Amino acid sequence: MSDVAKKPEKIRCDACPVMCYIADGNAGACDRYANENGKIVRCDPLTILDRTISAGGEVVPFMKPDWDGRVLGGDEVFVTAIGAGTTYPDYKPAPFIVSREVEGADFVTVVSEAIFSYCGVKIKIDTDRHVGHEAAPVRARGEVVGHVTTGEYGSQMLSLGGVNHLTGGSKAEGLATCKALMELCNKEAVELSIDGGSSIVVAADKGPIVDGTPEHRMRVGCGSATIGMFASQWRGLVDEVVVVDDHITGVVSEHQAGKVLDWPATGIKVKGRRSTPGRYFQVAEPGLGWGGTDIQNPLLILDDWNTKKGARPGLTLLMVSTTGEQFAYYVLNDDLVPEPADLPNALNSTVDLIAENCEPARCTVLFMGGAGGSLRAGVTQNPVKLTRSVQAFKTQVTCGGAPAYVWPGGGITVMVDVARTPDNSFGYVPTPAIVAPLEFTVPRDDYRALGGHDSVVRSITDILEHGGEYGDGSRAVSPPSGSGFAAATDT
Ligand code: SF4
Repeated sequence: MSDVAKKPEKIRCDACPVMCYIADGNAGACDRYANENGKIVRCDPLTILDRTISAGGEVVPFMKPDWDGRVLGGDEVFVTAIGAGTTYPDYKPAPFIVSREVEGADFVTVVSEAIFSYCGVKIKIDTDRHVGHEAAPVRARGEVVGHVTTGEYGSQMLSLGGVNHLTGGSKAEGLATCKALMELCNKEAVELSIDGGSSIVVAADKGPIVDGTPEHRMRVGCGSATIGMFASQWRGLVDEVVVVDDHITGVVSEHQAGKVLDWPATGIKVKGRRSTPGRYFQVAEPGLGWGGTDIQNPLLILDDWNTKKGARPGLTLLMVSTTGEQFAYYVLNDDLVPEPADLPNALNSTVDLIAENCEPARCTVLFMGGAGGSLRAGVTQNPVKLTRSVQAFKTQVTCGGAPAYVWPGGGITVMVDVARTPDNSFGYVPTPAIVAPLEFTVPRDDYRALGGHDSVVRSITDILEHGGEYGDGSRAVSPPSGSGFAAATDT
């Protein structure tokens, strides 16, 4: 065979267990590594947070010819693990172990793109609407990727991913889970459907879209809390107020807030289960209507009025939802039936006040993963010392520069708000698993004490000039708001 006809030699990427053989000029299965002139390189540049770049400022290539030659201190820039490469199979030191001087003290930051087979996302969706029953399966692209978990105050919660969906089901389930997790962590919009419930478009730090309807407001509180907040503003303007809420519907004349204000009884009777005075559970079924119930006509939750307890013709009634988006005003006729009437101007501002006190509805995506496994060997030769150091708050854990909450108890189980990470911080490998940037920052002396790879600690300048095992591309970005490494213009 002539040299011309010879196939280009493929070389092996060993950055994950897939071990792709990659021809020159091509990328591997995850598109994160490529063969460039016979060398495996990381396709994305090493990402450095630079607080001298104003918030929202352009991305600056930190390439050698353009670099302004500043002597970089630890306070000004932070080397993230984004684009750093991995330690797989973990016996070797992390791709970059960076020395930093912060306020005169020596620190070390160990950066590595960690491969997480044990990971998922917790999603908080600010909506009153009933999107599905607790424990109902959640699907992406038709595959089950998680479930509805316990609702919180004004928000519905989903738990997606985890090792059982990534590896414990079919191949299709694992890949769909991995793709959904990566997209969500990269702040992309993902459509999720809940068995027996709604379809929701979720994107980190954006408002949810529930069954095609964008959600704008997070409720001000439950029905009882709304009564507590605004009872004094309604006193003297209306005879009765009912705040309709799927969880706790409030009735001002019976509520403790009304009692304190000497609010007269009205003879109202609310369906549902009375919890305490003026607080009712289960006034209707959960749904997409008023206050997260399934009703569009609020009068359906009322029973007959009682004249012996204060009901009379002409009595006025305001019914309002917990976001102020739905409201109606009624006057009892001679048969004690509520007749719709125009909302008096004086009450208009009270409804507006409820709306004004609602925060914008958002989706929050928290990445959660277990970093207590073999990747610790890239940090120290004695992995349990890293775990103990993290648990003792001596070693700080960040993810793409964003502060990570470390769960108490065993292991290094971290949780990070993906909105605080730079765009496209997360990747995947087809095993399937999520690749997330992970940084451990520790005082230099402590790093030595925990058996760290002290002999390969490098300065930022050296890293920018010479790169690492997977190439020398780098870029500087403005730290995202709330990243814990705020840009100069952040307050
Ligand atoms: S999937 Fe990506 S990281 Fe894994 S071996 Fe292939 S190119 Fe390398």
